[in-house]
Amino acid sequence: MRAVTFQAANEVRVEEKPDPQVAAADEALIRVEASGICGSDLHIYHGRVPVEQGFTIGHEYVGTVLGAGADVDRVAVGDRVLGCFHTACATCAACLRGDYHRCEQQRTFGHGSHLGDLQGAQAELLVVPRANLTLRRVPEGMPDEAALFAGDVMGTGYHAVAHAGMRAGDTVAVLGLGPVGLCAVQAALAGGAVEVFAIDSVGARLEMAASFGATPVHLTEEEPKKVVRAATGGRGVDVVVDAVGDPAPLAMAISLCRDAGTVSGIGAYAGKGEVPLGLAWLKGLQLRLGLANVIAHVDRVLALMEAGKLDPGPLVTHHMSLDEADEAYRVYDQREALKIVLTP
Ligand SMILES: [Zn+2]
Ligand SMILES: [Zn+2]
Repeated sequence: MRAVTFQAANEVRVEEKPDPQVAAADEALIRVEASGICGSDLHIYHGRVPVEQGFTIGHEYVGTVLGAGADVDRVAVGDRVLGCFHTACATCAACLRGDYHRCEQQRTFGHGSHLGDLQGAQAELLVVPRANLTLRRVPEGMPDEAALFAGDVMGTGYHAVAHAGMRAGDTVAVLGLGPVGLCAVQAALAGGAVEVFAIDSVGARLEMAASFGATPVHLTEEEPKKVVRAATGGRGVDVVVDAVGDPAPLAMAISLCRDAGTVSGIGAYAGKGEVPLGLAWLKGLQLRLGLANVIAHVDRVLALMEAGKLDPGPLVTHHMSLDEADEAYRVYDQREALKIVLTP
């Protein structure tokens, strides 16, 4: 099979690899029909997340089940399926609490040996362990390029809003309109937010958020704090989603939030920085942080997508073939694309 492998910083390659086989009773073999390139793949591409040379990358996928071990009973050979970006054991203390994202035996697709040694999905074939928990059937009529969002990007945007405890009638601000931020905008509106302020400095992303029904606010050409305060009686919004992943926007998120509101930080906070904890304390804020619990949300996210209340379709800006992966990563790295879908 052909697979996209990490070679060195800023270098991926399409290589021929032996076809993988089902080796355990809980595994399924998938013929991958579409895979996505994600922001976290760029961390690998840049060499910030260490992955072995020759390791197959990618973790967003849709395909058809070609084979299944004896214990796999929730999907069957021939089913069209989508998967979550990681696996979980279903039996550890974290899984029994429903915190699949903190599973003690979590394995992430395409992230090298230190994150579970699970080969990635940017390939023609993929072995999926814990298939009963990791895979879902694609609802009838849902395109591949939409379905592959459910187990990662849309699940993450949904989590950012759900984890904040957002309720119908709330006002929300979303900082950072990459794919996750844009999905969070949709999730907030689908959950009954009365106004969603979408904040970024890229015009096209602001326009897309506005097309979903959000109020676009330019990060530097406007003053987000003033705009949000003016629209909320001087109080600030009930929920702020920080989808940037940097200490500086977290400070802005704290300033945009009303007293006793919630800040939901979904972007991976890399590095150190100043966070105005004193202000957060004075305002009595709740901070909800961490990786998304996509396995816990995937059925609800799929139901909302099937009902047309969430629609990641507009986020797909580029379709390319698996063989063009090298070029696709270059394009994505230049921030010329919002989401690139690769097809074998
Ligand atoms: Zn991802
Ligand atoms: Zn577990």
